[in-house]
Amino acid sequence: MKAIVVRPGVTDSIHMRDMPDPRMGDDQVAVRMLRVGLCGTDAEINHGRYGQPPTGEEFLILGHENLGVVLDVGRNVKTFTPGEIVVSTVRRPCGQCPNCDAGENDCCSSGNYEERGIMRRHGFMAEYYVEHPQYLTRLPAAVEPFAVLLEPMSVVEKGIDHAFLLQRRLVWNAKLALVLGAGPVGLLGAAALRARGLRTVVVGREPAGDLRARIATQLGAEYVSVENGSVLDLPREIGRPDLVLEATGSARVVFDAMQILGPNGVLCLLSVTGGTGTNEEPIDRINRQLVLGNQAVFGSVNANSRHFAKGVEDFVRIEEMAPGAMSRLLTNAIPWQDFKTWFTRRGSGIKSTLEIG
Ligand SMILES: [Zn+2]
Ligand SMILES: [Zn+2]
Repeated sequence: MKAIVVRPGVTDSIHMRDMPDPRMGDDQVAVRMLRVGLCGTDAEINHGRYGQPPTGEEFLILGHENLGVVLDVGRNVKTFTPGEIVVSTVRRPCGQCPNCDAGENDCCSSGNYEERGIMRRHGFMAEYYVEHPQYLTRLPAAVEPFAVLLEPMSVVEKGIDHAFLLQRRLVWNAKLALVLGAGPVGLLGAAALRARGLRTVVVGREPAGDLRARIATQLGAEYVSVENGSVLDLPREIGRPDLVLEATGSARVVFDAMQILGPNGVLCLLSVTGGTGTNEEPIDRINRQLVLGNQAVFGSVNANSRHFAKGVEDFVRIEEMAPGAMSRLLTNAIPWQDFKTWFTRRGSGIKSTLEIG
């Protein structure tokens, strides 16, 4: 079958090549790929900064944000039937740590996990893949047009899930949620928060008329542009938030976010920043506020099956609440043989996809 591969560790090694057809076992499901979503992680792997091929192999099939259709099922599989739309989770348990044993493999403590399209396991930029049914999530037809967003949505769902779990430490009646960054993760975060009925304010650099702002508004969120301002000015305009999702990709903003958090508030950090930047920060003030406000700051990455399932539930609710809003995130649909156009020049737009089938 055709697949898009990289040689991990080598800069700009991405190319299309014939790879062996995957063979479906009796306990597995065969899936034909429809499309993959592209994100910074794919670019980082192609830059040679990250990623590993499966043990004993030279190439890694890239791609982790996936959408496919069930082609065939092994004779022992009773839970899926051909024709169903499915998304696969990315991380596989290490089999060595208590979190993986408990199904919380997104919090693996050994580091010996595998991730499809990233670490030691092939991804989804291919015509087909096979998988065990417990790693597949079924999607209803109503959300198929934007179902390729389920993997990044699962990451957002985990962040929000963990924020609410942390806040069980007190009586928490969250009213105002702030999303910093209006990229795909920020807008998916806004959607998930709106699905929970929270007043949600999305903060972006783009002006108020931008597509990102219009999508936020369609989702029932407010949009504030900080094109000419600072995050530190936000409380004057909107009040102090109970929950903040940070998704700007800028570590600088993280420390501003700590300073505007409300009493008993929680700040969830979702940006993976690759740089080595340093900066002076008002550390006494930040610390004093965190202590006196009983505030919590935590990082969050990846997701487990529970978060994929919650993502589907929210997708259905959001599509009823704001029909068509999620599909507007998919701004660049690229035929998959033209993959190089994205890897050489990412361009504008919100989310790009490679159209496989
Ligand atoms: Zn991604
Ligand atoms: Zn583990």
